[in-house]
Amino acid sequence: MGIKLSYSSIESYKTCPLQYKLSKIDKIEPEGTTIEAFMGTLVHETLEKLYTDLINGKLDTLRELEEFYTNEWRLRWNPEKVKIVKRNYTPENYFDVGKNCISGYYRKFYPFNQALPLWVEKDFTIDLGEGIEITGVIDRVDRAEKGKYEIHDYKTTGTLPDKDWCEENEQLGIYQLALQEQFDDVEEVRLIWHYLRFDTEREVKRSPEQLNMLKEKLRTTALEILNQKEFEPKKSVLCDWCQYWKHCPLKKHALKLEDFGPEEISEEEGFQLATRYGELHEKIRELEEELEAVKKKLLEYARANKYLAVVGRDCEIKIREYDNVELPEKNSPEYLAIKNEIMAAGLTDELMEIDRFKLSSRVKNAQLPASLMSAVKQFCGISKYSKFYFSQKKKEYTL
Ligand code: SF4
Repeated sequence: MGIKLSYSSIESYKTCPLQYKLSKIDKIEPEGTTIEAFMGTLVHETLEKLYTDLINGKLDTLRELEEFYTNEWRLRWNPEKVKIVKRNYTPENYFDVGKNCISGYYRKFYPFNQALPLWVEKDFTIDLGEGIEITGVIDRVDRAEKGKYEIHDYKTTGTLPDKDWCEENEQLGIYQLALQEQFDDVEEVRLIWHYLRFDTEREVKRSPEQLNMLKEKLRTTALEILNQKEFEPKKSVLCDWCQYWKHCPLKKHALKLEDFGPEEISEEEGFQLATRYGELHEKIRELEEELEAVKKKLLEYARANKYLAVVGRDCEIKIREYDNVELPEKNSPEYLAIKNEIMAAGLTDELMEIDRFKLSSRVKNAQLPASLMSAVKQFCGISKYSKFYFSQKKKEYTL
């Protein structure tokens, strides 16, 4: 059995195995798209037009590109199908972001003669053997001079990744593998992400060793997916942008409620049960806080009166206080000093790895040789902790 993977399908699998299964195995069409993806696609198509026209001898003006972007947006905009997750932004905000990405890029690289564009939106397939194929689409490949290539990828995301992310990310390494299969004279490849919102490029290079390791990693991932039995849903912040809520057991209920009015929601059985659970959970948290406060006062009361048990209505609370030895950091000079004393005292069997509880118990019962006891006092903190033992009693005190 074979498998076809792309950088984005691998990312989808890592983000959420269920989302990967629904999209790539079950081949279920997503419900629509997100506005980020909608805007990103149009920016990509606009830059595709720019470079395709360039290859055909035409240098588009910025106005032409902006018109293309605007017309496509108007033609394809469908509020029913494009989801806006971040409700504090309007479609116009996203439209402007995309337009600024295009104009910023245009002004920076005009007249686009830095290198010769060879591929624009180019499909590829890499055969890794054993039925494993890696596919994808490269935004653009340029040749700067003989043997020197550049792979360009445009990003319209709202976050600029740090350099560590770029060093570890697999996307452009995969594209380099595809490039090297097609050109025999590749000596050097610059891998460049264009973070268009930030007018910033991130550039990396991959050595032959890194590319070999990448191939191995891709094979391992492919085999892991092939052998996967359960594609579990994995909740994350990205769920808000997922278009498979209808098929996801973690989101089906939330989706069902989206179609209900306020009254219907409050009468829905699951909503009522979950609401009650939430109320009880909150009550328990409040009670636990109250219990801690009562314990503190009870301890003070018992200490002041030298009681070890305090009686209440139909119950009795026994209170015990223990010494708690706080060991110094493992293998610190203080820790080793105590260990030496343990060895000198011949307690290695019992305390060789310094068991805090056993040591605490021996401190409490004064069962340590004097020199070890003094080392413990010198190097360890000794705190107190108390335990409360609750027992219900038959009615003895009727108040
Ligand atoms: S909503 Fe979240 S958990 Fe469910 S399929 Fe989508 S990404 Fe996975």
